[in-house]
Amino acid sequence: MENTKMFLIRYAEIGTKGKNRYVFEDILCKRIRNRLEPLGEFKVWRDFGRIYIESFSDYDEDEALDRLTKIFGIVGVCPVTVAEDFSYEGIRTAVFKYFEETFGDNPDNEYDGYNFSFKAHTKRINKDFPMNSMEVDIEIGHDLLEKFGDKGLTVNVHKPDVMLEVEIRGDKGYVYSKKIPGPGGLPIGTNGKAMSLLSGGIDSPVATYMIAKRGVEMEAVYFNSPPYTSQRALEKVEKLGTILSQYTGPIRFYNVNFTDVQLCIYDNCPHDQLTIIMKRIMFQIAERLAEKDECQAIVTGESIGQVSSQTMQSLGVIDAAVQCPVYRPVIGMDKQEIVEYSQRIGTFETSIEPYEDCCTIFVDKHPVTKPKMYAIERSEKKLVGKIEELIDKAVETAELIILK
Ligand code: ATP
Ligand code: MG
Repeated sequence: MENTKMFLIRYAEIGTKGKNRYVFEDILCKRIRNRLEPLGEFKVWRDFGRIYIESFSDYDEDEALDRLTKIFGIVGVCPVTVAEDFSYEGIRTAVFKYFEETFGDNPDNEYDGYNFSFKAHTKRINKDFPMNSMEVDIEIGHDLLEKFGDKGLTVNVHKPDVMLEVEIRGDKGYVYSKKIPGPGGLPIGTNGKAMSLLSGGIDSPVATYMIAKRGVEMEAVYFNSPPYTSQRALEKVEKLGTILSQYTGPIRFYNVNFTDVQLCIYDNCPHDQLTIIMKRIMFQIAERLAEKDECQAIVTGESIGQVSSQTMQSLGVIDAAVQCPVYRPVIGMDKQEIVEYSQRIGTFETSIEPYEDCCTIFVDKHPVTKPKMYAIERSEKKLVGKIEELIDKAVETAELIILK
């Protein structure tokens, strides 16, 4: 089958940004260009609240659709047929062509031939077109029935199976009906930057996705404790970052060697407080890296009550370790909801690979669940004079990898 020559991209929320909408639209166009560039020759432009993509070469259409439906800001991708002629006859020719290519014998046709009902819905943006939208609707309805009526096609104006959209804009008519859903959200780069604490688990990739979906550029940091954690555990996190980068674009990923910090805490602090103190120092290192790269917040996959370090008391004590805002988008979600989310975005299968995390290496059998700030601060005093240098070293030696 021939490649689709043109797509119309629908977006919702960025249309509500008033004067800034052009900024949002331009960024979205840029994201689309970047993602499609390796696949062929495309032109991407915006025009009156719509974005159009035209192809000028052969390309892998499944791959193009896969990429487009992962770009935040897009709510629908519509393959369109363009009327070459600015007249009703031009539009009719395009409608027939669209019907024959989309329905009938097309293997992707979800109906049997033309056995479905339709309604024509015309929007006339260019008022120079000689017929009004209602007249176009009526004519198209009539002409389609005449051509395909004996093959099963019917009209249903209340609940049609197929809503045939006709848009008359500029000197062109655009015909489409299929809307392949996109992820929604806002285009990456329209809302600053954040540093995500990315572990190999189920929750933090979902948290990273959720913040990115609001237009935030993401970086990531992973705390690694060789030889207690393996190379495979690191590779797993890199793989998760690579999956996420299909949505977010390239991710600056920091691999922090956390072993000496962890051993220092282990040797000096009460073991029932290890997880809390370790988390506080993780957050401090993440904050240092975030500041260096001008990220405005850190992001984690914590959810209230999931484990001992995620009680309200623990989260409060951990938060107090840093100045920058900490965003936890899965905070109110049940595990099962997070699992379903991760399946939807494609990180689940990787997350459940069985490699150890540094948090689980030194855990106590009975960790505190209601830590008191003063008690934690008292324990951390025992680290003074030793830990600072180790933290500096962890920040300085963090290995930067670009995941894409
Ligand atoms: P996840 O499923 O995201 O691993 P979890 O349920 O295992 O979370 P914890 O191990 O308590 O919970 O971790 C809570 C959050 O702390 C994680 O979601 C992640 O943001 C961060 N985190 C934990 N371990 C690491 C690590 N080794 N490197 C980076 N971030 C981490
Ligand atoms: Mg974990």
